[in-house]
Amino acid sequence: MMDIIVIGAGPAGVLAALRAADMGARTTLVTRAEFGGMAANDGPVPVRTLAHAARLIRQARQLGQYGIDVSKPMLDYPRLLARVREVVTDVGANSSFRRQIDSLGVTVHEHAGVARFVGRHTIETESGLRLQAEKIIVCTGGMSRRLSVPGFELTNTHSDAWNLTSVPLSMLVIGAGATGVQVASIFNAFGSRIELFQTGPRILPSEDEDVSAAVAAAFQESGIVVHENVGTIESFEKTPTGVRMNFCKSGERTSVEAALAVVAVGWLANTTGLSLATAGVETDHRGFVKVDKYLQTSTPHIFAAGDITGHLMLVPQAIQDGFVAATNAVRGPTMSLGDQVSPIGSFTDPEYAQVGLTESKARETHDVVPAVVRFDSTTRTIIDGRKVGFCKLIADRKTYRILGCHVVGERAVEITQLAAIAIAAKMRVDDLAHIPLSFPTYAGILARVAGIAARELNLKVSLKAHQVENSWHQF
Ligand SMILES: Cc1cc2nc3c(=O)[nH]c(=O)nc-3n(C[C@H](O)[C@H](O)[C@H](O)COP(=O)(O)OP(=O)(O)OC[C@H]3O[C@@H](n4cnc5c(N)ncnc54)[C@H](O)[C@@H]3O)c2cc1C
Repeated sequence: MMDIIVIGAGPAGVLAALRAADMGARTTLVTRAEFGGMAANDGPVPVRTLAHAARLIRQARQLGQYGIDVSKPMLDYPRLLARVREVVTDVGANSSFRRQIDSLGVTVHEHAGVARFVGRHTIETESGLRLQAEKIIVCTGGMSRRLSVPGFELTNTHSDAWNLTSVPLSMLVIGAGATGVQVASIFNAFGSRIELFQTGPRILPSEDEDVSAAVAAAFQESGIVVHENVGTIESFEKTPTGVRMNFCKSGERTSVEAALAVVAVGWLANTTGLSLATAGVETDHRGFVKVDKYLQTSTPHIFAAGDITGHLMLVPQAIQDGFVAATNAVRGPTMSLGDQVSPIGSFTDPEYAQVGLTESKARETHDVVPAVVRFDSTTRTIIDGRKVGFCKLIADRKTYRILGCHVVGERAVEITQLAAIAIAAKMRVDDLAHIPLSFPTYAGILARVAGIAARELNLKVSLKAHQVENSWHQF
């Protein structure tokens, strides 16, 4: 019998196997398909490659503004998909995780098919493996939520983009969370006519309200038709040229048509086929595996990590989860998931990103001071012709600490990483304002917005550091 079996080789499973083997446990990693999971093969890596292509198109469109004449950019979609495959292969081939896993002697079973529990310590796979271990860590990730409406089989998910042979003329994107807005933004840049639908009152519902409003306005400006508060989706039907969506709002029935409908209305735990009940592993009311702060399930020798737990469903969280679950599986439940600062963002046009509390959440528990600097007032964004967006910092009036940072615009995701470090370091806004960040940079906006918050809090901020950017504007 092995010491540890890890099921699923996404970021959570890979980290769990690495950590367990590094602590001396005899470890087996078994996964349905290829090593790397969603992150490497179907999520961030391929989507980011498409987003990069979208970015190149919009940069090419700027060339004339800078006196460079070239012909209009034309997208060859099959060639782009070939590039996506090349990137996925390259990332996989250069994965240091894979080399470490091998050097630590982890037994890896790739393409084993779906694994399922046939006992509390035993699993079997579709490929015919039967494996037993003292401890098991389940890291099988998540999957798209389906809508229970007639004709749902006529819709697509983000993954289907890999199977298209050309860019569809038009697309309905249903669901305006992180995945939906990325699909909408990328295919808008590629030339599809996009309509984006959100049943709730605003797109990006977990972002700060100002971020939702700014991204919605920028999307509309770029030609995406944004529908919020759309009511109830009733059905999908086939049409000669694609698909029709029927929906009903306040008793009034409406329909829209497009070549393709992509549904991105949520992410569920992927427990399909695992037979969790056989091992006594319980799920919560949303279907995610129930875990405590040690990532231990209702069956004490079975742990779970990553998207399957329903925590923040992102790669850094999955990695952290994998590490914690493996540590506890090997040493006993001693390491808990701490409060962590988690920057979140997306590579849409414009980008958006956040870290910490939204303004409305912060106001529930703190006396806050918000400060905002717009992208049309900073030197670097003006130089680069990227004047859409803002950076908003939320500070605590009592402690002067930064509670949250929200950015819309070029390099929003990168700017927010610096804010995350400032929050994790428990910096006060005047500390941040005093760092003489390089000029002219995108990150420089942080020191400037911190300076505004500090002045609002009557904290002294010397001009020498705060701010090259500000003083430049005062000349
Ligand atoms: C379109 C999209 C874009 C994203 N972009 C980002 C981003 O920019 N940044 C970010 O941080 N996150 C992003 N995410 C989220 C990120 O991909 C996930 O949070 C992350 O992959 C979760 O890791 P995981 O290990 O829990 O699961 P996964 O990566 O899903 O891996 C699960 C593994 O388990 C295997 N498996 C499943 N069931 C079984 C079974 N029964 N038996 C054996 N093996 C099984 C699967 O084949 C897979 O290898 C994105 C997600 C999507 C969908």
